[in-house]
Amino acid sequence: METIQADWDIPTIPLTGGRGSFPVRRIFCVGRNYAAHTREMGRDPDRESPFFFTKFADSVTANGATIAYPPETTELHYEAELVMAIGDAGSRVTAANARGLIYGYAVGLDMTRRDLQRVARELGRPWDTAKNFPDSAPMTAIHPAAEVGHPRTGAIWLELDGDRRQEADLADMLWSCDEIVAHLSRLYRLLPGDLIMTGTPAGVGPVARGQELLAHVDGLEKLRVRIG
Ligand code: MN
Repeated sequence: METIQADWDIPTIPLTGGRGSFPVRRIFCVGRNYAAHTREMGRDPDRESPFFFTKFADSVTANGATIAYPPETTELHYEAELVMAIGDAGSRVTAANARGLIYGYAVGLDMTRRDLQRVARELGRPWDTAKNFPDSAPMTAIHPAAEVGHPRTGAIWLELDGDRRQEADLADMLWSCDEIVAHLSRLYRLLPGDLIMTGTPAGVGPVARGQELLAHVDGLEKLRVRIG
């Protein structure tokens, strides 16, 4: 083989209202951004700040999909999250100016191989294999902020086969969306196509084959995913 042809497409997420699609460049995620979830993971939110990890762009999956149970795990967990979609570039932006970079919002799931994450934690290893795998970022269409504003309060919840498992208010985030953009833009130049998953409330747990997840954030379309 003399050369390798790029025979894959840039991953995309639809925009609401049939106005086209959002090309995904990178996916950043915030860990431990709700105090109650930090405590359920055995950590002290008063002593540790939230932090970042990443997923490949092609981890995204469309709303309504049935996703395969991933390999090398027996403990696939759901984490319902508000997602920010970046529309303009920026470095070292202040929280007060963060909204200028945000194109819109979606509801997402940060699917997690919890057993692999636990091993990584115990051994002081990276989280990649626990967090970054195909279909690990199901997501609704992106709602432009020009239509829905910038959600900073309102309910976020998840139901597993109709049972409420996660429930919080966006105002419970330790780092607000604007603060997340400010922190992340000190580490990376944020660019159009970036997605930022903003962390999950308490109540994470396992999902089995055949079960359905329904995730909600006030003002946005609901995210429905079935595990195949
Ligand atoms: Mn998460």
